[in-house]
Amino acid sequence: MAAVTPTIHRSNPGLMKEIQGLGAFDVSACYSCGTCTSVCPLSDGKTIFPRKLITYVQLGLEDKLLQSADPWLCYYCGECTDSCPRKADPAGFMMATRRWLTTKYDFTGISKALYRSHVADWIGIALLSFIAALFIYLLHGPIVTSTVALATFAPVDIVETGDIVILGVLSAFLLVNVFRMYYYTVYTKTGKEIAFTTYLKELFIQLPINFLTQYKIRSCTPGDNRDWFSHWTRFAGYALLFVLAVFLMYEWQTDQFYPLWSPIMLIQYVAAGLFFFGLSAPLYGRIKKTKNMYKYSHATDWMFLLMLLATGVTGVLIVIFRYALLPWDTYIIYSVHLMLVTSLLVLEVPFAKWSHMAYRTFAPYFARLAELKEVGEAV
Ligand code: SF4
Ligand code: SF4
Repeated sequence: MAAVTPTIHRSNPGLMKEIQGLGAFDVSACYSCGTCTSVCPLSDGKTIFPRKLITYVQLGLEDKLLQSADPWLCYYCGECTDSCPRKADPAGFMMATRRWLTTKYDFTGISKALYRSHVADWIGIALLSFIAALFIYLLHGPIVTSTVALATFAPVDIVETGDIVILGVLSAFLLVNVFRMYYYTVYTKTGKEIAFTTYLKELFIQLPINFLTQYKIRSCTPGDNRDWFSHWTRFAGYALLFVLAVFLMYEWQTDQFYPLWSPIMLIQYVAAGLFFFGLSAPLYGRIKKTKNMYKYSHATDWMFLLMLLATGVTGVLIVIFRYALLPWDTYIIYSVHLMLVTSLLVLEVPFAKWSHMAYRTFAPYFARLAELKEVGEAV
């Protein structure tokens, strides 16, 4: 890949307002004392934040901010906000910057609309729920009321095909966004060319470890693994539910009633347990405002959590109604569940909160590539 010509950074005087509109408390109060950077457990000799990023915003250096993967390396422990003498809330600034970057990686403009307008959020949810309801109405199978026959009402081959189509489309959007992230954070950086073998070597070193362990969050709160554990259980719950929905659908969505302690039921209990346990910390924390990271929630954070909760609760109700032999209740709650899942996946995976799982996973990889490029060790 050819080296690019050095960029001239233009100033965007409205950048501060854009970031503040996405939740930053008041970074205009910052007088660059550097305390936040010195206390940040994740800021080191290679990645220095948050003051550097605040300076970019104060100077309106949009290109420089866009070229930085650093906001994704912050895990919102809140240390910097606690120690800021100006109450500028640098941790909230880092969160708002991640939202801003999400809107920049997305080429459709949907992300920007979702983060900036509650009306757009509600229209999106209503529209997608309506589309899902229409598909259920048109494609559902016979409605058996003498018993609960969920797989007859919602034929698995149709639901699975829908799953695969949605998954394919959303993955394509997300991959384009990740590619744009790569373009900004690595490709536009000046320096030496990166050898293909370096791309591969770093890919295999950085990606699987970060994705599976989510270990970076542990460095954010040294000696206290609670945040990491809560984050990891949420991640493991999503992963297990994904496996159930995509690879094991024929096993659990059947008309057959498995014993409550059969292996397939146990997998569902574990997935639900991880999911609700992981969800409880951010929900409780936001209600009680237990930590800095929960004090200044953006409306989209609440919407995401409440949609997750509603999806989880309807998922559990399907099993309860089914085993209570309530056919109509089961079919109705199953339909509501599908409507919620569709809205949640389509809006959140490529365009909003859930996209952070991809950006956070790729950020250390891209940061490493950018570093190798800058120091000239890439070939
Ligand atoms: S501690 Fe506060 S005032 Fe000091 S650089 Fe950080 S944000 Fe600015
Ligand atoms: S929230 Fe924590 S990890 Fe993020 S910049 Fe502040 S101190 Fe660093």
